[in-house]
Amino acid sequence: MGEESKFLVSVVIPVFNEDKNIPILYEKLKNVVDNLPYNFEIIFVDDGSEDNTFNELKKINSLDKRIKVIKHRRNFGKASAYSSGFSYARGEFVITLDGDLQDEPKEIPKFIDKLKEGYDVVNGWKYKGKGKFLKRVPSKIFNRITSYLTGVKLHDFNCPFKGYRREVVENLRIYGDLYRFIPIIAVKRGFCVVEVKVENYPRKYGYSKYGIKRFVTGFLDLLTVLFLTKFANSPLHLYGSVGIFLSFIGGLILFHLFTLVLRGEGIGHRPLLILGVLLFILGIQFISVGLICEMIINTKDFTRDKLNIKEILE
Ligand code: UDP
Ligand code: MG
Repeated sequence: MGEESKFLVSVVIPVFNEDKNIPILYEKLKNVVDNLPYNFEIIFVDDGSEDNTFNELKKINSLDKRIKVIKHRRNFGKASAYSSGFSYARGEFVITLDGDLQDEPKEIPKFIDKLKEGYDVVNGWKYKGKGKFLKRVPSKIFNRITSYLTGVKLHDFNCPFKGYRREVVENLRIYGDLYRFIPIIAVKRGFCVVEVKVENYPRKYGYSKYGIKRFVTGFLDLLTVLFLTKFANSPLHLYGSVGIFLSFIGGLILFHLFTLVLRGEGIGHRPLLILGVLLFILGIQFISVGLICEMIINTKDFTRDKLNIKEILE
């Protein structure tokens, strides 16, 4: 076999209570990877399942050397499952999909092809929309807003089907629900992202672990990502600008009141006095918070910035 057979692709699949889906998913994966000219490792991360998931994984692990299983002590959430999978993965390319059969393993080659073309991140796009109306509409709104605010032109940020060059996931710090924004974090770090259309299937077994609530938390997370990507290295620019603006308005009000005092007018009864003082103090507080953030950043390990370098010619 040629050089290509040595090429390793890691597939990372977070699973939480998916026992019925695992045997079927394994068959589907096997059919796909057996017919591709690469080496594969398929990493299941059992994120603290309470059903038979781990036993199912054990079974396929004993049948197939390519199957690796990481078991979490308890349910830590999908981000943490990805983190565990990514730090274990050894492949040149890393592909993620869900363990609930909503993603079709047959599409894996699409992702590999795009990575081979040179893209760093390949984002799946469930172009037929996501299931029920109640999920589809908020999801669409969420994607539009995210795309507009971040400037990253993708249709389906939250699609679990993704492909990465290993450098992208190697130094990613994801926690909470931030995994949904990996493409944005990647773009801001200078990686190039492309989109491929994928099919979306309804869930047959098990239940969705996320409800409508995630659209509220989703927007809060978006705020976090915007903040982290735009101001992580210069928080005082954000807090300081707001602070200066507020203090300035407060200052003007107080100055105006001061001129009234000079003219002998009483100002103690004026609501404007409260507003002026409030704005002034609020402004100072904003500036102080910004300065504290700057102090925190100053303790950061800047050796991470070597990630900015793509290559060096000597
Ligand atoms: N999952 C996980 N940990 C969790 C919740 C979910 O590993 O705490 C896995 C789950 O087993 C599935 C994937 O993440 O493989 C997506 O979950 P789900 O299908 O519930 O989400 P949805 O498709 O409804 O967005
Ligand atoms: Mg699902």
